[in-house]
Amino acid sequence: MTLDRIPLAGVIGSPIAHSRSPRLFAHWMRKYGLPGHYIPMDIAADKLEATLRMLPDIGFVGVNVTIPHKERVMEIADLVSDRATLIGAANTLIFRKDGRIHADNTDGYGFVENLRQNAPAWQPESGPAVVLGAGGAARAVIASLLDVGVPEIRLSNRTKARADTLKEAFGNRVQVFDWVKAGNLIEGAATVVNTTSLGMTGKKELRVPLDALSPGMLVTDLVYTPLQTRLLREAEEAGCQVVDGLGMLLHQAVPGFERWFGTRPEIDETTRAAVLR
Ligand code: NAP
Repeated sequence: MTLDRIPLAGVIGSPIAHSRSPRLFAHWMRKYGLPGHYIPMDIAADKLEATLRMLPDIGFVGVNVTIPHKERVMEIADLVSDRATLIGAANTLIFRKDGRIHADNTDGYGFVENLRQNAPAWQPESGPAVVLGAGGAARAVIASLLDVGVPEIRLSNRTKARADTLKEAFGNRVQVFDWVKAGNLIEGAATVVNTTSLGMTGKKELRVPLDALSPGMLVTDLVYTPLQTRLLREAEEAGCQVVDGLGMLLHQAVPGFERWFGTRPEIDETTRAAVLR
């Protein structure tokens, strides 16, 4: 009898040393007693295509993709999922047995699953969502919020032209507002999301006025270093439901892990601890 190869997967980016995904995958493989390896790979842009075409030959079943390759891999892939097309970027590549590379984006899925798990009473359809920021992560957040029935998205970004581009892509349920007025958008919202990098360790603080935060709102921040940002601290003090950004990182990894290693992993406190260690 010939044994199948031990599955290999990994994450491709540049730089990649900061990635927490290897710790997460190693934790799940240990927890479920699965054979396999998950490897961080720092790949330069000019070597990306050749690397992706070679990896299946040496036993890779897929890879996660991070900055700066999330858009470029869409051009290299042979098949692209609808949600990756909508978002314009891919974070998960599946190397199929027929040799074709399938690109998917699980960031929006991870964003919503994190909220569903940690704020089960959240009703996205009950009111507008405020989205601060219009970078790569915002695209996935907006796509998934619209998908779960948010009636209106109030979008604000320092560089307004980037927000206008998202409105063009997603249509009239997205309304764009000047960055200086972002604090005014919170009143009457059901959901508030920071997708900017403000508040992250080493970056500037998010200075948007937060006086309109009120009980019943769901407030979440994609920044997870630190876990409790100013936005989340003030939201908690105002009586909002608060969900930190680490869970999004964990949930977006679930579809890839299940596909590559054959078991759907659970996310609980031990998962968070393994990644934070
Ligand atoms: P990105 O494409 O570089 O976008 C950065 C965003 O932050 C833009 O909206 C940018 O506005 C805004 N910004 C940066 N500096 C600013 C400043 N001084 N004042 C006002 N706005 C500023 O990055 P991204 O990929 O969207 O990621 C954004 C954040 O989300 C990062 O902190 C990232 O770590 C986090 N993230 C977390 C997860 C998770 O799983 N939790 C997943 C993805 C991303 P301009 O357009 O005006 O530059």
